[in-house]
Amino acid sequence: MSGHPRPVVIVGDPVLHSRSETVSDFSDDLKQLIDDMFATMYLAEGVGLAAPQVGVGLRVFVYDCYDDEGIYYKGHVVNPVITATSTETDDGDEGCLSVPGPFATVARPHTVTVTGVDATGTSIEVTGSGFFARCLLHETEHLQGTLYIDHLNRRRRSRVLAAIEPFPWNADLPDALTS
Ligand code: ZN
Repeated sequence: MSGHPRPVVIVGDPVLHSRSETVSDFSDDLKQLIDDMFATMYLAEGVGLAAPQVGVGLRVFVYDCYDDEGIYYKGHVVNPVITATSTETDDGDEGCLSVPGPFATVARPHTVTVTGVDATGTSIEVTGSGFFARCLLHETEHLQGTLYIDHLNRRRRSRVLAAIEPFPWNADLPDALTS
């Protein structure tokens, strides 16, 4: 099954600010959604993508992300739950394909463990540190209707929102979808 990019939903759309539904149907539709999310993430040059970002309110995210040692991790998690976080935190720059353009510094736990299932319903557990931990937390929070800018104070949040510049590729996506 090959994926097709879907348009990325931008901050302000209700799907990004609502709790996503638990996945209970492990059909080919779910596998297609995951493939499409990978295709969208790669087109957007992102390191992670949650289903609400393509307008689907289901608890699914994909990632192809590196940690602070430069090791890459690629996968998907369905119905993720954060089961452990370190008390040690890192300050780091964070951005979001649904808040395109700007970045802002957010403190995140240095390590995190996420449990859930894969597209077949099999239990999985993913532990990450550094930038990869940041990615896992960011994507899981999307499914709770939380964006990274929700961690910023009002002034910093306004500054980020004022700096949004929609990616040209998103505007071009309808052409990509028809090819
Ligand atoms: Zn995001």
